[in-house]
Amino acid sequence: MFSWSCCRTAVRGILDSLPVCWHRAAIHCSVRVWRYDDFFKDLENEFAKFKHKVKEALPGSDWSPLHQTSGLPPEWADVVIIGGGVVGWSTAYWLKKKEAVREGVRVVVVERDPTYSRSSTVLSVGGIRQQFSLPENIHLSIESARFLRNIQEHLNVVNEDPVDIHFNPSGYLFLAGKEQSDILAENYNIQRSQGAAVTLLTPQQLQRKFPWINTDGIALASYGLENEGWFDPWLLLNAFRRKAISMGVHQCHGEVVGFQHSTRDMEADDGSTISLKRIHHVIVQMPNSAECQPVKCALLINAAGAWSGKVAGMVGIGSGPEGTLEGTKLPVEPRKRYVYVFHCPDGPGVDCPLSIDYSGVYFRREGLGGNYVTGLSPAEEEEPDCSDLEVSYEYFDEEVWPKLAQRVPAFESLKLKTAWAGYYDYNTFDQNAVIGIHPLVTNMFFATGFSGHGLQQSPAVGRAMAELILDGRFKTLDLSVFDFIRFYRGTKVLEKNIV
Ligand SMILES: Cc1cc2nc3c(=O)[nH]c(=O)nc-3n(C[C@H](O)[C@H](O)[C@H](O)COP(=O)(O)OP(=O)(O)OC[C@H]3O[C@@H](n4cnc5c(N)ncnc54)[C@H](O)[C@@H]3O)c2cc1C
Repeated sequence: MFSWSCCRTAVRGILDSLPVCWHRAAIHCSVRVWRYDDFFKDLENEFAKFKHKVKEALPGSDWSPLHQTSGLPPEWADVVIIGGGVVGWSTAYWLKKKEAVREGVRVVVVERDPTYSRSSTVLSVGGIRQQFSLPENIHLSIESARFLRNIQEHLNVVNEDPVDIHFNPSGYLFLAGKEQSDILAENYNIQRSQGAAVTLLTPQQLQRKFPWINTDGIALASYGLENEGWFDPWLLLNAFRRKAISMGVHQCHGEVVGFQHSTRDMEADDGSTISLKRIHHVIVQMPNSAECQPVKCALLINAAGAWSGKVAGMVGIGSGPEGTLEGTKLPVEPRKRYVYVFHCPDGPGVDCPLSIDYSGVYFRREGLGGNYVTGLSPAEEEEPDCSDLEVSYEYFDEEVWPKLAQRVPAFESLKLKTAWAGYYDYNTFDQNAVIGIHPLVTNMFFATGFSGHGLQQSPAVGRAMAELILDGRFKTLDLSVFDFIRFYRGTKVLEKNIV
């Protein structure tokens, strides 16, 4: 029979087994419920509410014994995200944010390298611009800029420092010679028609605004007036990650090495047979061991960046006869890009935008101490070997520096300080994103192939992926042009403004 002393003992037992931070709420609810007969029911309700609050407030906290912030992955998940770069974590965040509508989606992010030593995200130069030629790319960046402007509303975590990604607002400056000026003007018209705040500058206007530029050879320039600049990529990645974990996303350190799937044959309209695959388990190899853990899943997202073509190959994508859908590869592979940091005390000051010369060389300032970062994408036939991330200093001396000095005479006396190399997640077909489901592997989605502009697109892409998965369609931005089937059809979605 129920008695007050037994009730007090029970409450004391519960309190003793709780972490200190839960005591206050437990005491609060226990004092209040003693006024009612249904003591345990009320206590349970209070705890359920409190559990929810704790889950929201503490990064990595979860009450499920299966939840892991590292180590072995759970045995099953609704969604497995392969790749914990900025795209993977943004998608995880948006899936959880939408979970308010659809309760209980279990999301796991599998990342093989928690140091991110080769991941594109942390090796990028952190730029965001609206100046693209494709309306979808323009809107992705406008939406992402809106997200970044309100980042604290999205990514702040209770009881932790507010998110700060060190955003530097600054327009991008595209410089065109006579040959490129028509395309630049065409792009400008598209950008304006899509609501991007961009202006054109004649060589004279350019000279007045940026007197340190040598305008020889320049016929036209375009300059972003808002929603452009750069930020610290690591800080954005970590903010997404921290927030997503606080919302209950599972994080797993391991490498996806294969899949278990079943195949079902279907007859197509033309009488041919189509084999549809469904992945049941993602095989995760644990770090520094041969041990593999299968994770049962309903669906998975290939967000493996530069390696997503390789991951797609693990389930046989692209291994069929040439010219067929089965034989169509995911054309995403690593392409090495060098970033050089130099010092030039007499270089342009605080007004120095992220400038892209028609020779392909770009530069921007890095802080306010006369430091700059620069780079140049090589011609297709001069792509460097991608097997390591070694930097070529000859490339700087022979290709980059002369172009820099030609455009900004002060750069003739620069001093190279350091350099790094990173991989573009390069879509060799049309240098654009791949977003959506595979037509034959019926539960593999892609969020990859951004070819050098994925960092800035990640907030809007994550939201689009969550819509596609939870609502079954794109709702805020229609990104269907980026579907996989274009590789089979041979229809390129070309972006003319690739840096
Ligand atoms: C030099 C350089 C400059 C750039 N500048 C800009 C810029 O200014 N603006 C911009 O928007 N973008 C820029 N980018 C591009 C941008 O960095 C990428 O498009 C973006 O970071 C892609 O993010 P991601 O999450 O898809 O890829 P990543 O950050 O590479 O993440 C993918 C992750 O998947 C993991 N992974 C791969 N295979 C497996 C597996 N089998 N199992 C488990 N995990 C796996 C990898 O370890 C990696 O961490 C630049 C890139 C480079 C290299």
